[in-house]
Amino acid sequence: MTLIAVAISISTPSAVHRALEAAHEAKAQGADVVEWRVDALAQEPAGAEAIAHLVARSPMACVVTLRSDEEGGRFSGSDEERIAAWVASSDAHPSAAYIDVELSTYRARDGIRAVLNRIAHAASPSKDPVRIILSFHNFQGRPPGLSARIAEMWADPTSAIAKVAWTARTVRDNLEAFELLAMRAKPTIALCMGEHGIMSRVLAPKFGGFLTYARTDEEETAPGQLTTRELIDDWNFRAINQHTKVYGVIGHPIAHSRSPAIHNAWFREAQIDARLFPMSVAPSWEAFKATVGEMFGSSILDFYGAAVTIGHKEHAIRFVDESGGRVDARARRIGAANTIGRDDDGALFALNTDADAILDALGCAVSGTRALVLGAGGAARAAVVGLASAGASVVIANRTERRATSVAVELARPADYHAGHHAGELPALDVHAMKLSQLPHERFDIIVNATSAGMDGGGSTDENPLPHEVPLDSHTVVLDAVYAPAMTPLLAHAAQSGARCVGGWEMFLAQARRQFEAWTGSPPRSAGPSSAPSI
Ligand code: NAP
Repeated sequence: MTLIAVAISISTPSAVHRALEAAHEAKAQGADVVEWRVDALAQEPAGAEAIAHLVARSPMACVVTLRSDEEGGRFSGSDEERIAAWVASSDAHPSAAYIDVELSTYRARDGIRAVLNRIAHAASPSKDPVRIILSFHNFQGRPPGLSARIAEMWADPTSAIAKVAWTARTVRDNLEAFELLAMRAKPTIALCMGEHGIMSRVLAPKFGGFLTYARTDEEETAPGQLTTRELIDDWNFRAINQHTKVYGVIGHPIAHSRSPAIHNAWFREAQIDARLFPMSVAPSWEAFKATVGEMFGSSILDFYGAAVTIGHKEHAIRFVDESGGRVDARARRIGAANTIGRDDDGALFALNTDADAILDALGCAVSGTRALVLGAGGAARAAVVGLASAGASVVIANRTERRATSVAVELARPADYHAGHHAGELPALDVHAMKLSQLPHERFDIIVNATSAGMDGGGSTDENPLPHEVPLDSHTVVLDAVYAPAMTPLLAHAAQSGARCVGGWEMFLAQARRQFEAWTGSPPRSAGPSSAPSI
């Protein structure tokens, strides 16, 4: 079983009481081990006594760590202070279960090695052993000579556990951490820090990691740590095993994405052993191809699919085409895919679930209606293709008029495509462009906002992209693809005019439901939360 170690730092003897309380809280949340970060405490005048007290009162097995300033900690004291802290930890009743020492410190001085060797072999019938963790950290990026260092830690007879942690430059670094775990010669901790490293923290049990670190609600001792509650409740950490399937949501930026919360809750409800991770991938074709290629290509990751968002939806089509997979005709017509998955025979497929999600969310008959789509980006193309394929006559209008005209011209005529072994014809659609200034004289049954106007973080939350003079009444359905905030200026105006309003969150859930079904073969069991979970 992979242990959850909650890391708590203590700077002064007066902070010991609160630290013990925090450890009790973490234990109640499900942590197995507490890592006492005594970097600063060990340099205090009565530091060793306070450490002995902390260790003896620890509510869980504990790791005692003095992290040096060269490896991201605060210890810059003497060897005497270091040794006094270790001896206090080993002599306490009960003693520390583990002492973490950096490889560089351990290597540097015979005296230090001798003390640790004595501590590691001091077990007796009345005293549990103290196990030495040899560790190596790099906050800048992947450490040079990683393989040689880990081999040295594995070969050392005094240490029981090897640990390496570095700041991931990309999500691909997680794969290297997993490969190290898979080939371990002794119990090993291999973790990636920072926003790209979350997979390595959560998936440690899949690869037999000795432990993963968690943070308290108050303090993070390394970037990217999750709380014990997040690991256990949100990620269902205890159920992760070697067969757990892995999915990602790929975009740039991606931290705001609600997809992990939604899909992970659905996987759990359906008792599907899978987790979906946020994967921030730089917005270039090369970065997308390298990342998704390595994920699907990994023989140990069990990567089964990805939701694809901002910046990469066109890359998703190209990637699946180049892999010889199947791109759904709707996605090809839109020119973008938001879902990649694997068929039973392992072949990749790409879909765009946004177009059908708009129809699902509208929840009304579309055939024979007149629809307006505002915008000319990916969401607008999906709306046009979804509505026109369902029999609506569609008008597209956009702030930059020529973009709307070019979308209308392209989608209004049939087109041939040839991609690898696949070829086909994309049907002509009933769509034409109008200027925004022409709209006040026009009536529509359905209006879809597929612009970013009104979106949180878009710099224009008070903007309504629909000219006010466009007539709205109880026969009009207005869908705003923007889902944060839930009530946009457009929806507020539409509601006042008596129109039926559909929020972007309904569309989001609908596109996610279809992704889930494409990956697992069944729709999710529950509808999902009625509003976007906060992040
Ligand atoms: P995109 O490709 O970047 O297109 C953005 C569109 O918005 C462009 O047509 C742009 O017009 C227009 N625009 C931006 N700011 C505007 C403003 N202040 N006033 C008027 N028009 C403005 O983005 P996208 O991927 O199509 O996404 C568009 C929106 O749909 C986003 O808010 C996105 O979050 C949302 N969306 C929601 C879902 C869902 O499931 N609910 C799914 C996909 C997308 P110009 O051409 O003039 O720049």
